[in-house]
Amino acid sequence: MAFKYVILGGGVAAGYAAREFANQGVKPGELAIISKEAVAPYERPALSKAYLFPEGTARLPGFHVCVGSGGERLLPEWYTEKGISLILSTEIVKADLASKTLISAAGETYKYQTLIIATGSTVIRLPDFGVQGADAKNIFYLREIDEADKLVEAIKAKKNGKAVVVGGGYIGLELSAALRINNFDVSMVFPEPWCMPRLFTAGIAAFYESYYANKGVNIIKGTVAVGFGTNGKGEVTDVKLKDGRVLEADIVVVGVGGKPLTTLFKGQIEEEKGGIKTDSFFKTSVPDVYAVGDVATFPMKLYDEIRRVEHVDHARKSAEQAVKAIFASEHGKPISEYDYLPYFYSRSFDLSWQFYGDNVGETVLFGDSQPTSPTHKFGSYWIKDGKVVGAFLESGTPEENKAIAKVARVQPPVESLDQLATEGLTFASKI
Ligand code: FAD
Repeated sequence: MAFKYVILGGGVAAGYAAREFANQGVKPGELAIISKEAVAPYERPALSKAYLFPEGTARLPGFHVCVGSGGERLLPEWYTEKGISLILSTEIVKADLASKTLISAAGETYKYQTLIIATGSTVIRLPDFGVQGADAKNIFYLREIDEADKLVEAIKAKKNGKAVVVGGGYIGLELSAALRINNFDVSMVFPEPWCMPRLFTAGIAAFYESYYANKGVNIIKGTVAVGFGTNGKGEVTDVKLKDGRVLEADIVVVGVGGKPLTTLFKGQIEEEKGGIKTDSFFKTSVPDVYAVGDVATFPMKLYDEIRRVEHVDHARKSAEQAVKAIFASEHGKPISEYDYLPYFYSRSFDLSWQFYGDNVGETVLFGDSQPTSPTHKFGSYWIKDGKVVGAFLESGTPEENKAIAKVARVQPPVESLDQLATEGLTFASKI
């Protein structure tokens, strides 16, 4: 089969790219999306949130893209109407960029004129580290919807049981909350001194750890899982920790990070910082090949640095930028460079935070960060070279979140950190 445009991967970036292709007037038959997954592109963040809830559960078709950003929901029929081929349950196992050919596991060949690589990330698995018993049944990872379905089945089968969550990042935090809401007895284990250490300061983390503890989550820090016990059915029964403790477990969920899926292209394309190197238009080193979303290492104009971003907002925006760039170059028109402001969010229990900008330099905590306070609302600023470069806010209103986004973009100067701490959100609202 041959197409003018092929998007390899059927995740968030692919869905937003498809919408932009339609906006740009792609003709029926010109575009194909090839995806390992069995369903049309959906908003992946739902998998660790409402997908796992016992009530108010999210299910497809409810969260197909582009509902996550308040846009039109692209149902499978939408692709049919636009003449976009959705080639699902199809894993590409070989890519030859020189001959513009992709080959699937079933041996089918797909030719393209222009390729967008949108393969996203895969999870890091414990057997990769040789952790004993790590291939036992009921040890779960969460990246794709079929994995979420297996977890949902286990939650039902092991009703009111014991769960151990390995990892203290956002997946660990969201999964611990979801399992607790499902009435599991939850322990969360991670080696660092506090949760979400890549973003949270000790002050921010203290709030979430107390909040989780008050909800009944048992947080175990400073140690790692080194082995798993199993029963006669091969199901996990316990988690052995490095410090000697043993935790009973009916379900284990592992969230210890991800890595971009670039293996198909090794040696054929320029890479940097673990991803596929692109310019501000998401063009790679290979002509007619673009890379977007989690796999792209791109110039972040705001910080004059090359970076890779594994967040949904960038997946959406980079996809749109690449498609705009493809059509602009076909019509010989210029478009603006990608100028991304990092944005990341998470939700768990009745908490919701947003972060914008860069988390470097000194920090200032502001607001009411008492976990038991009914009016808790707090945040943090990051200050570098006398300017605010990053801002975090828990329980912000839409206006307040807009204000912290503006601060991170404008990078206003600050004279006194004490004054910034006292002013808190008022500082952002004035910008
Ligand atoms: P993906 O959405 O992962 O899509 C990649 C697609 O490519 C998949 O369909 C995959 O099957 C397919 N694919 C890969 N290799 C092949 C192949 N060889 N052949 C065919 N198909 C292939 N970000 C946030 O900012 N906030 C959040 O709250 C948040 N929550 C998340 C919760 C979960 C459970 C996960 C897993 C991620 C979350 N993220 C969140 C991150 C966000 O979802 C990703 O950054 C985003 O999905 C990246 O989009 P992408 O299109 O690059 O990759």
